[in-house]
Amino acid sequence: MASITLKGVTKRWGAFVGVDSVNLEIADKEFMVFLGPSGCGKTTTMRMIAGLEDPSSGEILIGDRVVNDLEPRERDIAMVFQNYGLYPNLTVYENIRFPLKVRKIDPKSHDARVRRAADMVELGHLLDRRPSALSGGQRQRVALARAIVRQPAVFLMDEPLSNLDAKLRVSTRAQLKNLHHELQVTTIYVTHDQIEAMTLADRVVVMKSGVFQQVGTPTEIYDRPANTFVAGFIGSPAMNLIDGTMSGGVFTCEHVRIGGFADDISGSVTLGFRAEDARVSPVDASQIQAPIYSVELLGDATMVTVRAGVALVAVRAGKDYRAQIGDPVGFAIRPEICHLFDKQTGLRLENHKSAKSGTTSGTQDINWENRHVR
Ligand code: ATP
Repeated sequence: MASITLKGVTKRWGAFVGVDSVNLEIADKEFMVFLGPSGCGKTTTMRMIAGLEDPSSGEILIGDRVVNDLEPRERDIAMVFQNYGLYPNLTVYENIRFPLKVRKIDPKSHDARVRRAADMVELGHLLDRRPSALSGGQRQRVALARAIVRQPAVFLMDEPLSNLDAKLRVSTRAQLKNLHHELQVTTIYVTHDQIEAMTLADRVVVMKSGVFQQVGTPTEIYDRPANTFVAGFIGSPAMNLIDGTMSGGVFTCEHVRIGGFADDISGSVTLGFRAEDARVSPVDASQIQAPIYSVELLGDATMVTVRAGVALVAVRAGKDYRAQIGDPVGFAIRPEICHLFDKQTGLRLENHKSAKSGTTSGTQDINWENRHVR
């Protein structure tokens, strides 16, 4: 078992900075997810922890030990990748056993360890098969069992579910969560899928262009995104973001007028709110009034979208809500559920008090790291 620490870790290739001076402390047994769009530096950060890539600068510690100069096999980590990397000529049993042989672990212990790992991922009945006779989901579970069998200090998982179909992803995700609960091994998990991040993580690192945008629990990053990038990346649908002007405690933009803010913030701001935090209401008594842009039936709800200025703004209505594109609609929004961001930097604006509720949206309680935006 081990903690992992990154201190000012940077990866450059010539003038290009792939990972930009990141700092992070991952606690022993924590499930940490690296989340961000393609090319943001998630895999590179993980590969540096694995020892497959050398940092250009900075220190990486596993437990109390600086591991920069250690070979991957000396770091006591096991990796699971998107392409399972199974040996086609070996049976499931021998594939799972392979790391034990390579590490010259006492052969007497092999059989019990292989069977236990296989049972944990429900492969006990397939031990004699070769990988070619398995489904994608079963192959992924062999790869997981092969990582588990070693009982490493750290698991590194790079998009391990991305080759699976949607249904299998959901069930394997639940299995991963259960496995982590059972094994209690420090885990870093790389994904660009925000639902995977929210459901699996103890904490999430949101990355963009090699920079950590926010580090926090799923609830923290959902409820208090540090900037418009995080707000727009997390949630389905993502947070509504509307550029406008704040003056005298009133936010305005085309089709939008929301009063009731304290007057401590003025000028150009980006206002954010989530689709589930507002509601459809009578047009003349609402804060957003516009023609409907689209109506989508979701089964348990109906998503109603309008255009406000240049932004598309979605609100969840009841499952029986029906209206036509072009019909006038009103959305009611309370100022205290709104998030405000600096329009230029995208950073969250703190301490905007709602005149009505007197609440603040301070973020002192959150472990922000490197929260600047490029
Ligand atoms: P994805 O989700 O697509 O795998 P990622 O967030 O994991 O993306 P990385 O693979 O870490 O991204 O890559 C980060 C950036 O570094 C990308 O812009 C990539 O093109 C660049 N990069 C990666 N390896 C090299 C290399 N060997 N030489 C130059 N640039 C590289």
